[in-house]
Amino acid sequence: TEVMDTIESNSYNIYFENSLGELANFIERGRYSRFFVLTDENTGKHCLPLLQERLGNPDNFDLIEIPAGEESKDIDFCIGVWKMLIDFGADRQSLLINLGGGVISDLGGFAASTFKRGIDFVHVPTTLLSQVDASVGGKTGIDIDSIKNIIGTFTQPKAVFIEADFLKTLPARQILSGTAEMLKHGLICDADYWNRLKQSDLSTPAVELVHRSVEIKNAVVLEDPNEKGIRKSLNFGHTIGHAVETYSLINDKDSLSHGEAIAIGMICEAYLAHKKTGLSAEELSEITEVLMELYPRYDLKKADTDILIEYMQKDKKNQNGKINCTLLDKIGQFNIDNICTPEELIEGINYYATL
Ligand code: NAD
Ligand code: ZN
Repeated sequence: TEVMDTIESNSYNIYFENSLGELANFIERGRYSRFFVLTDENTGKHCLPLLQERLGNPDNFDLIEIPAGEESKDIDFCIGVWKMLIDFGADRQSLLINLGGGVISDLGGFAASTFKRGIDFVHVPTTLLSQVDASVGGKTGIDIDSIKNIIGTFTQPKAVFIEADFLKTLPARQILSGTAEMLKHGLICDADYWNRLKQSDLSTPAVELVHRSVEIKNAVVLEDPNEKGIRKSLNFGHTIGHAVETYSLINDKDSLSHGEAIAIGMICEAYLAHKKTGLSAEELSEITEVLMELYPRYDLKKADTDILIEYMQKDKKNQNGKINCTLLDKIGQFNIDNICTPEELIEGINYYATL
């Protein structure tokens, strides 16, 4: 197989080859006094054994485990992590190793970036979503009630270690959640990559594909760390997608995953792109077909469109109350800062709802 380069970010490396070996080297080089591994109950069970096998289990390691799920990404669990660090005697020279999905990297990154005004942390992402998205870009955060990521910091990890083996125990639905972001990366920046993804078996994405996604996300955030310009390209599918995700979280017993909601959002926003920024009818049907094939159909007709619009109006990315979408000129070419009226957005929602 092809050799996967280490990707360099502004101040840190993202490792793909022998990444747990690289983590062992990193720990050896780092002169840290203590090491803490943050897991949730699933990564503690499925991922920690491999990590311990590769690192050995020296006596300056302590484990911190939280329950699995988004409900753990809040201030109470953050206080729990801080208290454990205090109880274990963590000092400024401690390292926090975040072993898990986006919940662990967001919460762990936030807890570390604020503990004693900031201790070092690294990410070992174990979901596809966290490998291609959450662990790259330096955003950390927690939720308050159901307001996602409302409190947080921009703090870079000291390194990211991507190990494909962890995906072996990840449920199919979680894989598909990450796949949506990979498809988004192709749609906004790289038509060749989109074509490769289309032809691949995405139930077990090849490391080469994960690598390309990380390259794209990393390049975008490096160019625009504070989301003034091109980082907004990553919001494609997310204006309507987030609203659908929130709606589903509140109304469905078995709610949509982030990626499932974003896939719906990308179909609706591709329709808006066709109306507003020149995406051709052929490309709109191609995007629709690929996504409908991969993701289960969701009954959007049942959702009250006024409520969906209300969620979009509350989006923290808006400016002076106007709803902003990232659209596409064509596959592989994003187009940021498109103000969309409620009527237009409802048309996009109806396009999906009546497919
Ligand atoms: P998650 O961390 O909740 O992981 C999903 C589920 O998979 C959990 O139940 C987890 O326990 C389990 N799991 C993790 N690794 C596993 C493995 N290898 N085998 C078996 N089970 C495993 O969620 P996620 O989908 O990884 O991430 C979603 C979170 O990421 C959200 O909170 C979102 O806001 C955040 N996020 C952050 C950024 C960012 O830039 N900081 C970007 C995207 C998403
Ligand atoms: Zn997303």
